[in-house]
Amino acid sequence: MIAQSLQYGALKIPYQVTFQSTISGKIAIHVLPTGMVRVDAPTSTSLAEIKQGVGKRAKWISGHLSKIHERGVHILTREYVSGESHLYLGRRHVLKVRTSQSEEPSVKLRQGRFEIVVAQQDPHEVHSLFSAWYRAKAGLVFAQRLDLVVAGMPWLTAVPRWRLLSMKRQWGSCSPTGVLSLNPHLIKAPPACIDYVLTHELCHLKHHNHGKQFYQLLDRQLPEWSSIKLRLDDMAEYLLS
Ligand SMILES: [Zn+2]
Repeated sequence: MIAQSLQYGALKIPYQVTFQSTISGKIAIHVLPTGMVRVDAPTSTSLAEIKQGVGKRAKWISGHLSKIHERGVHILTREYVSGESHLYLGRRHVLKVRTSQSEEPSVKLRQGRFEIVVAQQDPHEVHSLFSAWYRAKAGLVFAQRLDLVVAGMPWLTAVPRWRLLSMKRQWGSCSPTGVLSLNPHLIKAPPACIDYVLTHELCHLKHHNHGKQFYQLLDRQLPEWSSIKLRLDDMAEYLLS
């Protein structure tokens, strides 16, 4: 992946170029729901040709980005009140908020419904209680999935060190010393998407870049990874908000 940027008026729009041997002909420009711009180019294309192609679509790209921005502003105004729905492991569950002075604040997922008990009906309180619940679940579920995914990688002798880290635009990362960081928001995505992110980051333990060998390994470990990634990219804006 090569990082580039496009100057459009006063706006500097970063984008990432991925060379793919499987596509032929023209470059394909994708504006992802996260606001990331990705350019898929046939391996025979030069950077100059890519810059020219992206430049021609500058107006279209910036239009897309401002729409995403507007929608993002809309999505962020969640109220954390009864009737709202929230995701867990790819499933949507309706929220029921109850106030009680005598009970301990709690979050429970019962019969397909989130039941939250708070001292007072305050969206910030519900939000922080809920975030703590998601984080705790992420810790448990990621540990289980890591065990399973690592078991399918004979070249790994143990589960590497890992931690939860909230990130705005990334699901995971792998440090040069081999420590994985996993975004707790990923717990809202379907298990297949979680496994994809884990597999991707684990493959970085062998290849610390996105070179050819990295993708060969990823293809071997999870042949259907690219369709799962598209699914996750489509949900990203919603899950990360
Ligand atoms: Zn990577």
